[in-house]
Amino acid sequence: MDLLSLSVGLFIILILGLLSLKVGIVDHSGLIAGVLVGIPIIIAPQDGLKWFILVLAFHIVAAQFTKYKYEVKRRKDTAQEKGGARGWRNVIANGATAILMALCSGIWGNPIFLAGFIGAVATSTSDTLATEIGLLNPKSPRLITHLNKKVPPGTSGGITILGELATILGSLLIGLLAWVLGFDGYLLEWSSIILIFIALIAGFAGSTFDSFLGASFQGIYRCIICGKITENKVHCKRNANQIRGFGLLDNNLVNLTSTIVGAISAMLIFSIV
Ligand SMILES: [Zn+2]
Repeated sequence: MDLLSLSVGLFIILILGLLSLKVGIVDHSGLIAGVLVGIPIIIAPQDGLKWFILVLAFHIVAAQFTKYKYEVKRRKDTAQEKGGARGWRNVIANGATAILMALCSGIWGNPIFLAGFIGAVATSTSDTLATEIGLLNPKSPRLITHLNKKVPPGTSGGITILGELATILGSLLIGLLAWVLGFDGYLLEWSSIILIFIALIAGFAGSTFDSFLGASFQGIYRCIICGKITENKVHCKRNANQIRGFGLLDNNLVNLTSTIVGAISAMLIFSIV
């Protein structure tokens, strides 16, 4: 990493961070977290700027789709809070595995960590798109662990046809961008098809794991004011009653775990093919 690319990288992070804050993609804490995620990803691996572009693509796509039909989601009472601006917990939960992969790549230089990185970013992207696009599905979602059971839109672990298509779209986007960035060349014997295939499978595995955790172990609550079932500990400004799952396993920890699964899936495929 030379000083010039480092300065260019930091400059880009800062400009984009401030823009994100201005258009409401992140809040202030999310901006700081975004800078903290961006710096090691730019600095640690070889050609870190390209790695950073991949993470950036996730953030832009996630923001676009969170805002997409925000009014419709708000009316269904399924929209993200604060207009969809992401706080630091969300940014770190989605970025931690990617940082780890970037650091490992910087230390050992083995391309397996690039595979893991792509798997983690593909999972975050798929998962966010599945949630945000899935909310617009005309029919009620079904619980991934009991497919004959319909649940209200926004329920953790609920899946829809539209959401599953969005899962594929998210991973495909990351796979295609990785190919455009020339990552197939870094992975030596990888052809572009295998690169895209790995993003697809890893992103799908990670997102499916996310839904599975959401349907089984994630902490789920019932609001004591409006009676709504929610994954948030606080609803209508009051502490909600826990009805199932583990309180510790909140949405952010579920996201983090899923990116780990996505990364491991990609690394496994990398070692096999
Ligand atoms: Zn409520």
